[in-house]
Amino acid sequence: MNEQINAVLRPKSIAVVGASATPGKIGYTVLENLVKEGYNGVIYPINPTATEILGMKVYKSISDVPGPIDAACITIPAKFVSAAVDECGKKGVKGLIIITSGFSEVGDRALEDEIVAKAHSYNMRILGPNIVGTLSNSDKLNASFAPFLPLEGKASLVTQSGALLIAIDAASFTRRVGFDKLVSIGNAADISISDLVTWLDEDASTSCISLYIEGFKDGRAFIEAGKAASKPIIALKSGVSAHGAAAAASHTGSLAGAAKVYSAAFQQAGVIQASDLNNLFDRTLALSLQPPMRGDNLLVLTNGGGVGVLATDAAERYGLPLKFAPADVQAELKKHMPEFGSAKNPVDMTGMAGLEWYHETTKFAYSHPWVDGLVVLYCETAMTNPMEIAQGILTAVEESGIKDKPITVSFVGGERSDKAMRMLVEKGIPAYPAPDIAVNAMGALREYTHLREMVTEGAVAAPKVDSKTAREVIAKARMEGRGALTEIESKQVFAAYGLPVTTTQLARTEDEAVALAKKIGFPIVMKIVSPDILHKSDAGGVKVNVKDEQAVRDNFRTIMANARAYKADADIHGIAIQEMAPWGTEVILGSVNDPTFGPTMMFGLGGIFVEVLKDVTFRVAPVSAGQAARMLGEIRGAPILAGVRGEAPRDRKALSEVLCLYSNMIFDLADEIAESDANPVLVYEEGKGVKVVDARVILKKKA
Ligand code: ADP
Ligand code: MG
Repeated sequence: MNEQINAVLRPKSIAVVGASATPGKIGYTVLENLVKEGYNGVIYPINPTATEILGMKVYKSISDVPGPIDAACITIPAKFVSAAVDECGKKGVKGLIIITSGFSEVGDRALEDEIVAKAHSYNMRILGPNIVGTLSNSDKLNASFAPFLPLEGKASLVTQSGALLIAIDAASFTRRVGFDKLVSIGNAADISISDLVTWLDEDASTSCISLYIEGFKDGRAFIEAGKAASKPIIALKSGVSAHGAAAAASHTGSLAGAAKVYSAAFQQAGVIQASDLNNLFDRTLALSLQPPMRGDNLLVLTNGGGVGVLATDAAERYGLPLKFAPADVQAELKKHMPEFGSAKNPVDMTGMAGLEWYHETTKFAYSHPWVDGLVVLYCETAMTNPMEIAQGILTAVEESGIKDKPITVSFVGGERSDKAMRMLVEKGIPAYPAPDIAVNAMGALREYTHLREMVTEGAVAAPKVDSKTAREVIAKARMEGRGALTEIESKQVFAAYGLPVTTTQLARTEDEAVALAKKIGFPIVMKIVSPDILHKSDAGGVKVNVKDEQAVRDNFRTIMANARAYKADADIHGIAIQEMAPWGTEVILGSVNDPTFGPTMMFGLGGIFVEVLKDVTFRVAPVSAGQAARMLGEIRGAPILAGVRGEAPRDRKALSEVLCLYSNMIFDLADEIAESDANPVLVYEEGKGVKVVDARVILKKKA
């Protein structure tokens, strides 16, 4: 474990720099919180003028402290922090908890950079600045101005919002979601979310890592930290709507909102997502208490048809569609219900079900090898006692001795049900007030297994490429002062990375056009070649299915005239004469250089579908063959590729390969390419491959 981060999150001794004798001041609150919770380490209040606070001896400066100091919690104004960092460094402090605000969040990045550099020169790490602090139940440590330690539990939360930390701290009691650690990271100037994920993964008191994320700088480090972790990680990402509006020259740019890119990155990191704050609580509870669900067979037990149907709907929504249990399972379940009950799935024991039936069916179902996960529902009735039912469920689970299969519960009712659920949660069984929540929580436990399978599957292949040629093409365009490549140049770059592009050559004159057309063979396609015309069709610059010499000549003139009419001062290189590809299913590939994750690729159905349906999916590049194949299945239009209405299936294998090659290209040329796309790529029948008929590359701006 990282020693400095250890010192910050689990200090054996802590100095409070700026300890105050005045109630209401942060320097007082932090000290009081440390004392009040019974922190078992040594506390050193530091204040140049006070002599005693809360009955503790006060030291004039860090250097006066007699013993070693693991962490210094800094609460003094921003302008004094730099000097304090020096003092701490000289004393040999290991880590700093900088609560003070007034750094990059108010525009003072220089000061923030200065204190980080300084801390590093003393081998210290910084949590913060601009944070509430850090809390740990297992250490009775409340080094923060949040009023108390959270409800005890096994999840640990890292949050970028300090206000949210204080709110979640309080809500942990009412929502009955327990935490061991709550860590506020504020500006994350030094210790990052990724660092904390790695640290918490090794923390014995943490079983699930819960994250509230507004945005981070080290996207790729996060993916690596997530992949390497052995505990479930769940993230709630906020602020997903702002960044998509960034002006973009390509389809991909406008389609790649933060939401989709973050979702892709979370998936690649093996991180489960929460849809909102409620969902973060609910899923965190299940992930912190229950083992992952290892198969697809979910069984639902209920005493009411209504909640059963709601659970059935939810099961489909969250990727766990219910299947009928095998006949022998049904036969056994039938024994614990009246004649009119149903042993299918959901298993409806009817409103007559009391303690005994709940106990028997839960015990049988939970122990049965067919069942991979169990959701037990209960509708409060006048005839039954919720606490008794809960007891029945709990004993069944305990008697089964099973520890590697998940169970979630939902009691729908009033105060009695609430009490019963509280008891279950205390015993480690997640219980929720609505059936869809219990199923959603189970969905998270299933997702976890899927995500782990994905991150551990085959590595990304490194295909042989001719990056030298590609870079020469780019260098030439840059020499000419251009920010984009023409289609011909783009295709040269694509081809250098093994992508199947149509043959295309530049004709400067009509005669050259005719000669090239004859060489390539009719029919051909003619397209304007100008770095100033990115969308060629819009300029009347594309003619397909050109069949003979006369047509080549006519079209040459028409295209030139159209282009000039479209943009009088356009720099026109000539006209591309191109092999005409046969018709195929149109798909689009695109890329952006995401500010957080770097080169990121998009795939979707092409043509009008792109703009209208936005049926696209993303991955941070490069992608493995498995991920590429999954991308094909993720779009809503996936059945079109599989072959609908008697049409032959498309060559998905070739398309997957193209996705891998393309992702490799944008990854390798990330220093050069800002955005790119291939729109359309034509996909043929199985065995007949794929053809890139249009390509576009937009270069990164260089200083
Ligand atoms: P742009 O997107 O700049 O308007 P494209 O090169 O994509 O221009 O051409 C427009 C359309 O013409 C394509 O969507 C495709 O349907 C068709 N097309 C272009 N090139 C070819 C080709 N080589 N073979 C067959 N069809 C083509
Ligand atoms: Mg196009």
